[in-house]
Amino acid sequence: MIVVQKYGGSSVATTEKIAAVARRIAERAKKAQVVVVVSAMGDTTDELISMAKQLCPMPDDREMDKLLATGEQESSALLAMALHGIGQQAVSLTGGQAGIITEKVAQKARIRKVDGTRLIEELDKGNVVVVAGFQGITENASWADITTLGRGGSDTTAVALAAAIKADACEIYTDVDGIYNADPRVVPEAVKLDTISYEEMLELAGQGARVMHSRAVELGQIYDVEILVAHSARNVPGTLIKKEDPDMEIRNPVRGIAHDTDVTRFTLVAVPDKPGVAAKVFHAPAEAKINIDVIVQNMGADGCADLSFTIADADYEKALKVMEPVAKELNAKKLVVDQNVAKISIVGTGIRSHPGYADKMFSTLASEEINILSITTSEIRITCLIERDKAQQAVKALHKVFELEKV
Ligand code: ASP
Ligand code: MG
Repeated sequence: MIVVQKYGGSSVATTEKIAAVARRIAERAKKAQVVVVVSAMGDTTDELISMAKQLCPMPDDREMDKLLATGEQESSALLAMALHGIGQQAVSLTGGQAGIITEKVAQKARIRKVDGTRLIEELDKGNVVVVAGFQGITENASWADITTLGRGGSDTTAVALAAAIKADACEIYTDVDGIYNADPRVVPEAVKLDTISYEEMLELAGQGARVMHSRAVELGQIYDVEILVAHSARNVPGTLIKKEDPDMEIRNPVRGIAHDTDVTRFTLVAVPDKPGVAAKVFHAPAEAKINIDVIVQNMGADGCADLSFTIADADYEKALKVMEPVAKELNAKKLVVDQNVAKISIVGTGIRSHPGYADKMFSTLASEEINILSITTSEIRITCLIERDKAQQAVKALHKVFELEKV
């Protein structure tokens, strides 16, 4: 039996915690071959980013990748040493050494392929293999550059490795007990789910539930890797992310509520309402690899339209840089940037077959006197953009109205 386990940054934040994780791993290694993926210790990644920005306001992409990858290299080497310290044979590898090849995109590279040969060889020698999460290398062997997979990317490393070596289990250990149907820090009545479908988890992760990296879930779905999310120190059952259950028909059609305050809205005011304008507006951020979310077009006067979209706060500077010239080129009246916004979403595969959920969501927000700035939907999700300081109030109200304390 082969198990891939991933330990998040808070689970390896100190040498004591690393030692504790090592003991758990050694215990597991008595019965299974174990690959471990680690995040950087505690807030290391944030600290590295802040050091980089002190030295250069817009750090070079390549150097940034190389810098950020060191966080996981540190924790993986230390964990291997901790395993040696308790007599467990182990070896640590960088992402590149573990066979992870990515595209050449700075700081959010996607994995192209994984060559699991070395992993299997090391396992067969009796090693626990500790892999530095969140990183890979580009393809060209003689010019290979280190790349990183985006914040939270160690989850993706774990699922990708599990798929590549056809592991029997993939376990993500973190500082929460599993996936809740709302953020338990905001809603004390939030309930931990035993299982959740890939589809629902993807929507929740994409809309702000920070527990899992969306790409990890996407990979799980594609390669049929069931992903367990559980607490790294407590022995309580976690949440299994898997294919949709047959009993999903009878449970609450709303599976969870996500909120995201890490949102910036750009609006191009009064651009010409003619073919090709939207294409022009969205080409620039696409080139800059900026993810665009809620897109809204409003008709204005005189054959003009307002176009707005949201991005993650982290992409704000990059987006401003590419959107200013576009606004000028299209003769937009102005470019408005609003950071006082948040997204709030209800998610559930049942939504698609039960009418009335949009109505219920909107009337709940109305009765809380929360103004809806814009609305977007997928088959299994309804998202409203609202004012940022109303986000918590909205989550609480919706959790109650949809009776999510009952699951
Ligand atoms: N250390 C990286 C981050 O903080 C990757 C990860 O934790 O998965 O985003
Ligand atoms: Mg981290």
